[in-house]
Amino acid sequence: MISFRSVGKTYPGGTRAVAGVDLEIPTGKLTVFVGPSGCGKTTCLRMINRMVEPSSGSVLIDGVDVRTVDAARLRRGIGYVIQSVGLFPHRTVLDNIATVPVLQGISRRRARVEAAALLDRVGLESSVAHRYPAQLSGGQQQRVGVARALAADPPVLLMDEPFSAVDPVVRTQLQDEMLRLQAELGKTVVFVTHDIDEALRLGDLVVVFAPGGRVAQAAEPATLLASPADDFVAGFIGHDRGYRALSFADAGTLPVRQVPTVDFDAILAVLNGEGSAPAITSRWSLLVDGDHRPQGWLDGDGLRAGRPLRRDDVRLGGTLIRPGGTLRAALDAALSSPSGDGVAVDADGRALGIVPAQAVLDAIERARAAASVASAAGDGPVVGFATQAAEDDAAARRASTAADPAVQEAPR
Ligand code: ADP
Ligand code: MG
Repeated sequence: MISFRSVGKTYPGGTRAVAGVDLEIPTGKLTVFVGPSGCGKTTCLRMINRMVEPSSGSVLIDGVDVRTVDAARLRRGIGYVIQSVGLFPHRTVLDNIATVPVLQGISRRRARVEAAALLDRVGLESSVAHRYPAQLSGGQQQRVGVARALAADPPVLLMDEPFSAVDPVVRTQLQDEMLRLQAELGKTVVFVTHDIDEALRLGDLVVVFAPGGRVAQAAEPATLLASPADDFVAGFIGHDRGYRALSFADAGTLPVRQVPTVDFDAILAVLNGEGSAPAITSRWSLLVDGDHRPQGWLDGDGLRAGRPLRRDDVRLGGTLIRPGGTLRAALDAALSSPSGDGVAVDADGRALGIVPAQAVLDAIERARAAASVASAAGDGPVVGFATQAAEDDAAARRASTAADPAVQEAPR
């Protein structure tokens, strides 16, 4: 845990860069400092590895004031990545990455072997190993910078606007790599950006800095979106934060309704001229395999009108509403389904039932209303619709009936 205790910094000349910052940065998580330029983000970051000393207060790592630790020793445990990368131009990619381990006394040969493995970790082809930095794209250079910071395997990684100089497409790729890497490595990462989208995408904890070098709010992305602490945070996050909140609101609390199901194998048999079509009572039936996993939909219109089953009555595929998925994903599932109903599955992929598009839209409205009520009140629950939806869900389950194993029908 990195702790800021009443930390202030006034630079010589009188610029007050940081004022009274109190902060707990959790171990093994990715914490993002975000805010407009000049709010003291870089200054705070550099106080962690003593590139800047506080004017007041203290910074502690695992309870130890960093001022009591020799700066060179301290920095050995702290990787540092900056926007302009700072690669050595006359060293190859491999030797750039191997620099710190070699300084630490590891043989050059072994350091190079480990550097080659790191290339792969950060998503670079081995063919770049013997190139010089100038022969790489901006995105590739940035990856080398990350690899170099990781080479000494430091528990803490400080990253100052590392992706700000690359174009948006490459930037998204680098963010993806960062998320994958962090899932593997579990470092304590402090990441500075001015980009709120990048912060919300990457951060386990997002710390919003405001002018004057103060921390306006430190919270998880979903909390920040649902309950911005003040007008500054609300404005910085943006007016469409209700829509952004959608991608964080959990679809697991949507009211799931029972759906008539038909055994997919039985339908395939009928199409092959074996057996007879099941009795169909509603327009759409969900096709499930032997493990009750959804396979697609059966359009029962023709069958109900008395004509034989046809191949095009069967609509295969479709996206699913998965546990832990988002409302946005649930809406995609519902809107892309031929029946207009999204199919909800459990963690094993077995069909739980359906959620009509309208029910997803209602949940979205409730999430949006909860977000705006919460932001107006300055506090409140993150996802206000959960209780109501959970009740609906329970009611739906109570109403469920297990009938004919081939065709299940429940009140709708
Ligand atoms: P951010 O990273 O949020 O853009 P900084 O921490 O770099 O903010 O800067 C905060 C304030 O401190 C700014 O007003 C900046 O001009 C000032 N500042 C930063 N570094 C120095 C320095 N070495 N000397 C004097 N003023 C500085
Ligand atoms: Mg900065």
